[in-house]
Amino acid sequence: MRRECKEGGQTNRIKMKLVFLGPPGSGKGTQAKLLCGRYSIPQISTGDILRQAVRDHTPLGEQAKAYMDQGLLVSDDLIIGIIAECLRKSDCGEGYILDGFPRTVPQAEALEQSGEVLDHVFLLEVAEAELVGRLTGRRVCSSCNQEYHIQFYPPSREGYCDRCGGELLQRKDDKEETIGHRLVEYERRTKSLVDYYGGKGKLRRIAGDGNLETISGRIRQELEDIDR
Ligand code: AMP
Repeated sequence: MRRECKEGGQTNRIKMKLVFLGPPGSGKGTQAKLLCGRYSIPQISTGDILRQAVRDHTPLGEQAKAYMDQGLLVSDDLIIGIIAECLRKSDCGEGYILDGFPRTVPQAEALEQSGEVLDHVFLLEVAEAELVGRLTGRRVCSSCNQEYHIQFYPPSREGYCDRCGGELLQRKDDKEETIGHRLVEYERRTKSLVDYYGGKGKLRRIAGDGNLETISGRIRQELEDIDR
């Protein structure tokens, strides 16, 4: 395994293939984005890819939309196809963070069968009672996708993005009635990946409570400990 990370220097690259696993609202996307920025590796978020496809009204988006709106997982075949296409791109050869994939055991098996060897799977652990508050308070910029939280990370001007001035919206699946379905899908179909990756010695548990910086500090610390 080769890693580079010069604090304060220009080279800030990590050559690792990572998965971020956790229930909806555990902060996978936010933490993956921070780490990818820090180590200059691509973030592959199946949720972002699907939302973009829905916005663009592509055939993929049309197929996925009804599932997403109901808080259900889209079919394994569809998702496995998307990931295969992403991983063929040249910038994924040296490392990446998968955020939101795999979400089922068949997805994990397909990834493995495609020859990808993961270094670590980070499980973000957050109490269920906290997840609902995190999700219902989330707002996303309709223009640049920057995320906010009405309580924990509010924009300076209510309803508008600090970065680009775009309008902040609530994701359809962040409404309380849909969140329940997403949490059930996690329990029913995704949670078994904890044992799956635990059994392969890849799982790293990260306490997902606290603020953004605290959690990212824990992840960085874990990576440093692994490296020693
Ligand atoms: P996320 O942004 O990761 O919460 O994903 C939003 C929605 O996209 C999920 O509720 C699913 O409907 C769909 N989705 C994203 N990733 C996957 C996946 N790996 N398998 C199935 N559905 C997914």
